[in-house]
Amino acid sequence: MASSSKNPRLNPGSGLPGPVERLVSEFARLPGIGRRTAERLAFHIVKSSTPEAMKLAEAVGEVKRSVKHCAVCFSFTDDRLCSVCADPRRDASTIMVVEQPKDLIAMEFTGMFRGVYHVLMGRLSPLEGIGPGDLTVAALLRRIDDPKTNARETPVSEVILALNPTLEGDGTGLYLASELKDRRVKLTRLARGLAAGSRLELAHKAVLADALEGRQEMP
Ligand SMILES: [Zn+2]
Repeated sequence: MASSSKNPRLNPGSGLPGPVERLVSEFARLPGIGRRTAERLAFHIVKSSTPEAMKLAEAVGEVKRSVKHCAVCFSFTDDRLCSVCADPRRDASTIMVVEQPKDLIAMEFTGMFRGVYHVLMGRLSPLEGIGPGDLTVAALLRRIDDPKTNARETPVSEVILALNPTLEGDGTGLYLASELKDRRVKLTRLARGLAAGSRLELAHKAVLADALEGRQEMP
């Protein structure tokens, strides 16, 4: 009868039951989630009802089953390539870098942009612990360095930074500019027609079109 306890074994490091510790570790791997927040989320799951908690598990499963990223630009798609990357009428030598798929949709609504996109899937945020490795920066640089990985294997000649005019958007832009400095591409960014602190996805069509038209080369 020595060790037939029915209680889950406690993690020697945290003193939490093993399964709870595992959930905490999984949450803590998410960008911007520290150990304390991860514990708070895990405890919330532990005390919520089983159907409530399973909704989260099912939503994760569903999104992984049904939503894919474009192999080139990381926009959402249900195919290997998104409709923009797959369209031979789009100029794949010009890449517009946006933070989120929502920004891409806003820009598509202007009907003014004929190039292709690269979706970072976020922005740098040192305070939230979000670094370049949490974004799709490496894939962007690969598209420039190795045209075979770009849409229709087209060499890239211009990169347009279309990040939100926020502190973090600006910081992300500066980081990308430093990464692109020694690469032989023209680097531009949207004109400052967008109010500071505003969001691309909410900008009026005409404002976005003007910002694209008046884009400025970065030094
Ligand atoms: Zn794409």
